[in-house]
Amino acid sequence: MSLLDILQFPDERLRRVAEPVATFDSALSALTEQMLETMYESRGVGLAATQVNEHRRLFVADCAEDGEAPAPMIFINPVILDRQGLVDSEEGCLSIPGINGMVPRAELVRVRAHDVRGDEFEVTTGGLLSICIQHEIDHLDGRLFIDYFSSLKRQRIRKKFEKALRQQDQA
Ligand SMILES: [Zn+2]
Repeated sequence: MSLLDILQFPDERLRRVAEPVATFDSALSALTEQMLETMYESRGVGLAATQVNEHRRLFVADCAEDGEAPAPMIFINPVILDRQGLVDSEEGCLSIPGINGMVPRAELVRVRAHDVRGDEFEVTTGGLLSICIQHEIDHLDGRLFIDYFSSLKRQRIRKKFEKALRQQDQA
């Protein structure tokens, strides 16, 4: 199975708002498998369809701790029903490699989503999975974790990535 390319900031396609998934077929299931494989290969804990240039509302995640058995999860058409508490979470993103920063997030979330067969499920969670769900749903809405930073810090990051792109083009 081939790995998917992950869009890199400042690619404008990361800003597209994803459309709801309407068809639960084998192609959808294959996409989620490829996304999981790409996420594991990149050592990420979550990957949104937007990041692989598929503008549909779904993401994959595995927030198992090091040393625990893998716990792949698939969320299709996810909706946050309830948020509680507030935490500062330190985040990074496979689309913005090398950048980390603090983001204000809800501590607990209650989420409703569909699995690959189209069956609905609900989870209430805190910890890393809660943060991951909020970060990935942001991707589906075209939002990045650096959008929570000050505009000065965002500009610096943009310049850094644009410069790297130019150097790549010249090479
Ligand atoms: Zn991300």
